Amino acid sequence: MRGLRGIGVLMMMWATAALSQTFPLERTTFPLHAWVPVDRELHWEPTTQVKKACAPILCDVNALQLEAATQFGLVERLQTRDAAEAVTSNLVLIENNPHYRVDTLTYSIPYLTAHAAKLVDDIAVKFSRRVQQKGLGHYRLIVTSVLRTVEDVLNLRASGNRNAVLNSTHCYATTFDISYERFFRVGWFADADPETLTKILVDVVQDFRERGECYAIFERRESCVHVTVRY
Ligand SMILES: [Zn+2]
Repeated sequence: MRGLRGIGVLMMMWATAALSQTFPLERTTFPLHAWVPVDRELHWEPTTQVKKACAPILCDVNALQLEAATQFGLVERLQTRDAAEAVTSNLVLIENNPHYRVDTLTYSIPYLTAHAAKLVDDIAVKFSRRVQQKGLGHYRLIVTSVLRTVEDVLNLRASGNRNAVLNSTHCYATTFDISYERFFRVGWFADADPETLTKILVDVVQDFRERGECYAIFERRESCVHVTVRY
């Protein structure tokens, strides 16, 4: 009996050693929570290097975006949320769908012109496909800001957002922001490298920009890509 117990102990020791070689905890590439089978946000702090590399690619100035916004968007800026109710029936409600999620919005409401709504959808579909083609899993984009009233812009500026210009393109329902520091992971697999996801997002927006469908700015302070439709 003692002999058998000894062999059992030896086998346990061997199995433990083999497992620790196969899955060395101290060398785990991804944190264990990355493997939890739930949908969740992947958040990262983009480095100065990444921001420096991406900002010159998407760099259409506000004046240019404003030209498109006033040409293709609402005729007048909305002063208050009450005033917005009268025009939202002519706009498209932006909601969570299989390709993007809409943040809980504090300083904007989820409405866009039909063309801008199509553009955000097209960008999200292309992003999702490109990420999957690269074998990185299934990710949705996160929309962080949509249509703002003048009142919203004033409140946003009061909150300390220096990028929020008074005559914002967000006031014309032609413009939306997509986060590049947060992505929504769907399903059970290891987290993708978030820097790669940011670069894919920039490439995809650049494709639409080069085709003349939008203007875009890689916002360094607000960690979002600010997109205005051009049709
Ligand atoms: Zn914006």
